[in-house]
Amino acid sequence: MSKVLKVDNLHVAIDGKEILKGVNLTIKQGEVHALMGPNGSGKSTLSYALMGHPNYEVTEGSATLDGVDLLELEADERAKAGLFLAFQYPTSIPGVTVANFLRHAVSNVRNPNRKEGEDLISMRDFRKELRAEMDELGMDPDFARRYLNEGFSGGEKKRAEVLQLAMLRPAFAILDETDSGLDIDAVRIVSEGVNKVAAKMSTGVLVITHYQRILNYIKPQFVHILFGGRIVENGGTEIVELLEKEGYDWIRAKYPDAAKDEDELEQNAPAGQLTF
Ligand code: ADP
Ligand code: MG
Repeated sequence: MSKVLKVDNLHVAIDGKEILKGVNLTIKQGEVHALMGPNGSGKSTLSYALMGHPNYEVTEGSATLDGVDLLELEADERAKAGLFLAFQYPTSIPGVTVANFLRHAVSNVRNPNRKEGEDLISMRDFRKELRAEMDELGMDPDFARRYLNEGFSGGEKKRAEVLQLAMLRPAFAILDETDSGLDIDAVRIVSEGVNKVAAKMSTGVLVITHYQRILNYIKPQFVHILFGGRIVENGGTEIVELLEKEGYDWIRAKYPDAAKDEDELEQNAPAGQLTF
């Protein structure tokens, strides 16, 4: 049976300031959706809010995974319920190796009732699986012994995120700008990795991106534009082509109220990269 991720009239605030102003989005397992929108329109806010980042306060609306209220769950419980987020800016965890992190994460997600201190999945099975997945993503086996994201290049961080996706096999995956900072070969390899997992697990995928190029490899059936904190356009890949050709001016003209909110968001955007 296919599961459904349903976001209904979601409003999200950071530090008391409303960023998302009523987002509606329904993704079924097996579907690929793309979410596009200018910088600062709230794309990462949506992914953090769905995954349960404590700084993102949901002030109105709902988010359910197969009828289960996600907003009632902690981030780890959302992961166990089948949701995964590949971060736009992955955090490094010095002292925790990629292998150790993944062995714990995989054990907990596959055995949601596992208590800390109980058995992890067997080292033999885990190693075999990890090697196979790393091989497919073109990653050096030594990578598993490095500390998570510590000193990784931009491309290595993105591959590490997709490696997590491959090992955790979620029902739904949100990929927040997984293509940014990658050269075209890396985009292709990472995309093929995503496609393989998605096909195996019938994962519902939400690809958040600025650019068309990743969508040439991970092909969406549905495309949404987030602008001024709400989704203003829903359609197919024709929207991507339009954006690529004409930018966001036509959106601005078509949705003047959202354009006002978008300008305000941009003005209030903290300088530099948001890295939490
Ligand atoms: P996107 O991912 O679409 O580029 P974000 O979701 O990162 O956009 O940010 C949306 C808006 O939320 C920003 O323009 C900014 O106004 C606000 N915002 C994001 N993070 C913070 C923060 N840590 N503190 C204050 N405002 C923030
Ligand atoms: Mg973002």
